[in-house]
Amino acid sequence: MRKYEDSYQHKGLRKKLIDVLREKGITDESVLEAMNNIPRHYFLDSAFDKIAYEDRAFPIGEGQTISQPYTVAYQTQLLQVKRLDKVLEIGTGSVYQATVLAEMGAWVYTIERQKKLYDHQQKSYHFKSRYPNIKFFYGDGFEGLPTYGPFDKVIITAAAPFIPPKLVQQLKTGGQMVIPVGEGDMQRMLRLTKQPDGSATEEAFDMFSFVPMLTGRNK
Ligand code: SAH
Repeated sequence: MRKYEDSYQHKGLRKKLIDVLREKGITDESVLEAMNNIPRHYFLDSAFDKIAYEDRAFPIGEGQTISQPYTVAYQTQLLQVKRLDKVLEIGTGSVYQATVLAEMGAWVYTIERQKKLYDHQQKSYHFKSRYPNIKFFYGDGFEGLPTYGPFDKVIITAAAPFIPPKLVQQLKTGGQMVIPVGEGDMQRMLRLTKQPDGSATEEAFDMFSFVPMLTGRNK
C-alpha cells in the first residue's frame, strides 16, 4: 500500500518550484497558490517522489505523461479560471491538471480515452473526498460532453491535430478554450474566445510538446 506523506521537504521543494514558475513568467497568483497547495508527488509513482518537483514531465503509464508544471501553469493562466466556472478538460491523465482547476474552485468535467487510466483514477484518485467538484468520464474528447455543456472554459491537454468543432459548439458565448494545435513534434498554444455568432476568435501563444490527442476510445 502506498504511503502518502506531504513532508516539510516536499513542501520546501514545492515552494522552490513555484519560484521557478514565477521566474519563467507565470504571474497569476491564484494559479501559483493552487499549485503550491497540491502535492504533485501524490500523482506520480513513488519512485519519482524526490524529483516530483523538478519542472519536467513524467511517465504515468500507458505511454502517457503528466504535463510539465510550467505547461500546467501556463495553460491554467491562459484559461483565466474563476470560482464556479464550468470547465471541460480533455485528457485526464494523472488528474493533476484537473486537481489544480478544482483547487481554484472550478467545476471540472474531465474526459480520458484510455480505459486503463480512467479505471485506475476511478479506483485510486487520492483526493476524491476533497474535490467532489471533479467528475470523471471515459470517452473521446473530440466529442466533448454535449449533455453537460455548455462550458465556460475548455482545456485540451493533448496535441490536437485541429480545433475540434464540437468543443467550440459546447462553449458558452464569451467562453474560452486553451488548446495546443499541431501535428508535428511541437504545437502552438491557442486561446479561442467564442463569439455571439458561434465562431471563435484566436490568439496565439508559445510552442509546447504534448502527447497526441487521438480519436475514439481505447479499451
Ligand atoms: N492533464 C493530464 C495530462 C495528460 S497527457 C495530467 O494532468 O496529467 C494527455 C492525456 O490525454 C493522456 O492520458 C491521453 O490518453 C489523453 N487523450 C488523448 N487523446 C484523447 C481524447 N481524444 N479524448 C480524451 N483523452 C485523450
